[in-house]
Amino acid sequence: MSKKVMVWGSYVADLTGKAPHLPRAGETVFGNWFKTGPGGKGSNQAVAAHRAGADVMLVTKLGKDTFGDHALDFYHENNISTDLILLDEDYDTGIALICVDENTGQNQILVVPGACTNFTAKDIETLRPKIVASDILLVQLEINLDALERVVKIGKQAGGMIVLNPAPARKISEELLSMVDIITPNEVEAEVLTGVSVFDEKSAQKAAEIFHANQVKTVVITMGKSGVFVSDGKKSKMVEARIVEAMDTTGAGDAFNGGFVTALAEGKDVFEAADFGNALASLSVQKFGTAPSMPFRQEIDNLFV
Ligand code: ATP
Repeated sequence: MSKKVMVWGSYVADLTGKAPHLPRAGETVFGNWFKTGPGGKGSNQAVAAHRAGADVMLVTKLGKDTFGDHALDFYHENNISTDLILLDEDYDTGIALICVDENTGQNQILVVPGACTNFTAKDIETLRPKIVASDILLVQLEINLDALERVVKIGKQAGGMIVLNPAPARKISEELLSMVDIITPNEVEAEVLTGVSVFDEKSAQKAAEIFHANQVKTVVITMGKSGVFVSDGKKSKMVEARIVEAMDTTGAGDAFNGGFVTALAEGKDVFEAADFGNALASLSVQKFGTAPSMPFRQEIDNLFV
């Protein structure tokens, strides 16, 4: 039987516009394409895990506004439970304003996480029994860190496995790090947390040793189309990415993390789980968007026949 996964993290509405060039300070540029979509690292990772077949509960916080309503509609359409989704009285739903240069693909992103920076001690106490009942707790750094530490402490004390995707890159306390069983940074996040510039297997190994010295049992560093570096403290290796024609790599890390925990919940070891995460991410980068680009289980299984 698959273990229970809880994802406690952010939802933001992605507001994406494309233009011939990115605006400079004070400049207004005419764009010619605009789309809104569900985003936020916590939400994206929960969607990825749900579509991959995990028994997953999402905890996030929305404002009482149109963007919050859109999020709830999206969850209903995707059969994702909204039982643990909180509504904030004061804060708006988080948003990300994403400008994309249609010629170079470069982007500028302004994220206002809104309600997701206001998880309170009361919210957490209310959901304590649900945290305790989870086998795997997957968290990111897109919410208020005081709340994150509380949630992780409860999960850890209850014997759950703590998986931290330390994104976006932020410094975290030693106490938080010491409670993490598996950390899944990308190269930039690994550098912010360890001071080691990560660009190949050797430098990834060096960063992993620093995480291990801080009591993190398993280190999984995602390295774009090179795949992932995995070290469980005894053995380490690169688990290669699938070779595909990437169309939009936004949310690749979220796809990977959702797939990775799904495989762990099914009893796979960390190396097999990384391969499953890579498979899921390879499908998501071939489609536009974040949450809507997450593949369903059948598509993933087709890569393993
Ligand atoms: P993002 O911030 O865009 O969500 P990230 O920096 O967190 O991404 P990456 O390390 O870029 O994460 O990618 C995560 C995983 O996605 C990789 O380990 C790999 O499996 C897959 N991936 C990313 N880019 C490609 C690509 N071009 N082709 C195939 N797989 C890819």
